[in-house]
Amino acid sequence: MSEKTWGQVRNEILKSVGKKSFSTWIEPLRIIDLDEGIAAFEAPTKFMRDWVSRNFADPILHELRKAGANVDRVEIRVADVRSVPANSAGKPAAVQVKPAMQDATDLPGAPLDARFTFDSFVVGKPNELAHAAARRVAEGGPVTFNPLFLYGGVGLGKTHLMHAIAHELSTRRPDLRVLYLSAEQFMYRFVQALRERQIMDFKEMFRSVDVLMVDDVQFIAGKDSTQEEFFHTFNALVDQGKQIVISADRAPGEIKDLEERIRSRLQCGLVVDLHPTDYELRLGILQTKTEAYRNQYPGLQIADGVLEFLAHRITTNVRVLEGALTRLFAFASLVGREITLDLAQECLVDILRASDRKVTIEEIQRKVAEHYNVRLSDLVGPKRVRTIARPRQVAMYLAKSLTTRSLPEIGRRFGGRDHTTIMHGIRKIEELKGADSQLAEDIDLLRRLLEA
Ligand code: ADP
Ligand code: MG
Repeated sequence: MSEKTWGQVRNEILKSVGKKSFSTWIEPLRIIDLDEGIAAFEAPTKFMRDWVSRNFADPILHELRKAGANVDRVEIRVADVRSVPANSAGKPAAVQVKPAMQDATDLPGAPLDARFTFDSFVVGKPNELAHAAARRVAEGGPVTFNPLFLYGGVGLGKTHLMHAIAHELSTRRPDLRVLYLSAEQFMYRFVQALRERQIMDFKEMFRSVDVLMVDDVQFIAGKDSTQEEFFHTFNALVDQGKQIVISADRAPGEIKDLEERIRSRLQCGLVVDLHPTDYELRLGILQTKTEAYRNQYPGLQIADGVLEFLAHRITTNVRVLEGALTRLFAFASLVGREITLDLAQECLVDILRASDRKVTIEEIQRKVAEHYNVRLSDLVGPKRVRTIARPRQVAMYLAKSLTTRSLPEIGRRFGGRDHTTIMHGIRKIEELKGADSQLAEDIDLLRRLLEA
């Protein structure tokens, strides 16, 4: 059976089991085989396998037969976790439909997510600067920094903050024309305007806004004419004293194939980054979301220590964290069980496994060598010149902080050095980091790259 027929069969199953069950149980299934009368599917967890086999095997079989497939048995297996792509792990089994709020004006912006407000944004050390800057922009007062450039890894809250700005402005300053869209949409509209020979309308429209927010601007890197147009729009608005907010997944200086003049323009304003989450922030977010779920699922119990466990184990990004919680509540409410540590471990096995991915010393050495432009062989070799010794110490430092390897083990990977040498290198970097901001930045960047 082709993917296509399975797609059709899924539609039929959707009709028969309803949307909620479908998105929780059927959508995560992957068909892997149809042979000798057995249709085999993969479920992401053991728990789901059992549940689906017990409750949905018959409807699936029924629909498969109706579609003309020669099946007499449906078999659900547990997916081999190694084959689960990293990003699918974050996808909650129960897909929630986000309530979308359409922009009230005639501007062709992207819809705003009604849940992305300042109220629902949990502030912690890693994001407090970005949050404060976003708040300032949302006051709608005179423009103090232009643009506000927010950057950080996936799922750290950039889009959330931008939507929050838009929401806040729509109540505080309903007179302002606020336009939020992704860089991809910007390009799409630009290309469309070119094709339909409406480029003047396009220019006029973009130049008429009071606040322009462009999300994920790294997308236009390497797209020359879009960059060019973006640059002109940008300048025209800045000249008129209009506020611009930009987000990207990295700092302006690190976006490849971005024109130099755009890069320097972007750096002119306030550049703030959202740091990777820390334990306290993750726990705070989980507690806030749990409160919200308590209203949605009254009576559902959650055992002590579960949130702490999740905050400790799922360190990738907030989206994954949220997905885990969503799935957990959906499971628990469907089976009417308390959310315990066991239940969490059982139903989140794929997410927990994926978050376990550990950085290796080899990866660290490779990235550090690349970053400082030194040979890998020199990095682990005996040379003592500073241009090599310093990167080597950085690599030792990262090996200690990003892996669970012991000092003697690290020493062995660095050309058989003694553990005291490693210790010395790590101390040296800790000491220098405080005073040398370039070094601190290098380390921050490398850590980010390695943890991505
Ligand atoms: P990004 O745009 O940086 O990739 P998003 O803004 O889309 O990330 O955030 C991903 C998800 O995590 C969203 O559902 C968002 O609401 C949530 N999130 C991120 N940071 C926070 C936070 N500090 N408090 C509450 N929710 C957050
Ligand atoms: Mg985003």
